[in-house]
Amino acid sequence: MSGVTQPAGHCVLAVDVGGTTIKAAVVGEDGRVLSALTAPSQADDNPVLAIRSLCRQLREHALSLGGEPAAIGVVTPGLVDERDGVVRYAANLRLRDVPLRDLISGDLGLPVAIGHDARAAGVAEATAGVAVGLDNFLLLPLGTGIAAAVVVDGVPLAGATRASGEVGHMPVYPGGEPCSCGQRGCLEVYASAGGMARRYARRVGTSGADSQAIADAVGTDPDARVVWDDATRALGIALATLTLALDPARVVLGGGLAEAGASFLDPVREAMRDALAWRTPPPVLRSAFGTQAAQVGAAILARREAGLPVPDGWGAPDPVPPADTLQRLAEPAKP
Ligand SMILES: [Zn+2]
Repeated sequence: MSGVTQPAGHCVLAVDVGGTTIKAAVVGEDGRVLSALTAPSQADDNPVLAIRSLCRQLREHALSLGGEPAAIGVVTPGLVDERDGVVRYAANLRLRDVPLRDLISGDLGLPVAIGHDARAAGVAEATAGVAVGLDNFLLLPLGTGIAAAVVVDGVPLAGATRASGEVGHMPVYPGGEPCSCGQRGCLEVYASAGGMARRYARRVGTSGADSQAIADAVGTDPDARVVWDDATRALGIALATLTLALDPARVVLGGGLAEAGASFLDPVREAMRDALAWRTPPPVLRSAFGTQAAQVGAAILARREAGLPVPDGWGAPDPVPPADTLQRLAEPAKP
């Protein structure tokens, strides 16, 4: 646990439930993280208990900082019904029809907002990241899997069955390698951090190299090169398809892979240009929040739930934003 002692004021609680780790924070009135804690999401093989336990700890921590939190926002991957506060299905967490809002509200007696992690990350980018002022953009956090926030006319789309944005299962290489979903050639087989690690392990015969290690080895290791090139090409193809359907003003890539910067973004941009012969592709930028985007989004959902204002710039990352991002923002779209 880390933190500074400050009066919490109108603080909110923000919880980002991932496939392996739950990241949680007490977030102050000004958007600064006052205290953060994490826990494994598979503790005791019971993610629901792990989430509820961490939420209780987080609230106690907020109280120790000097104030009752105004609300809590909890975001998860999968099919999330934000309106009813129910996680319909999250494969990695093995959650099915969990009434998370009622459970946490019963535990804490606070207003609770339940959200989808990628859509919440999109809300963060639109509030204080690289999508401020944009009504139409895409955000793809590239993590264990790949989901997208599809923001159209200012609204993060949920879809008819709350399953919008599952772009990780778009077929990019028809008849390609099998995906855990039962299809073949899905985007996330090639371009998610998890998929890249699995493909690299199969090529070299040993596991353990993560996407960061693969990124570091691209210049010297031919197997890393192949996995890297397949990933950036797959993503470029997928983004071209999404661009043709949605005409976003900007594409934002998040998660650890995007942190590789130009060595990842440039080949993605190139593949996208190649697949969009007749129109200008939208600029592709790195997320301003990196791996914190969903948690900042959860804090924003909590503030909205409590009726607190969320001005533009609220929750901006510190330091803001990376120089590379500012540089890219200043560049016009490449022809
Ligand atoms: Zn799939």
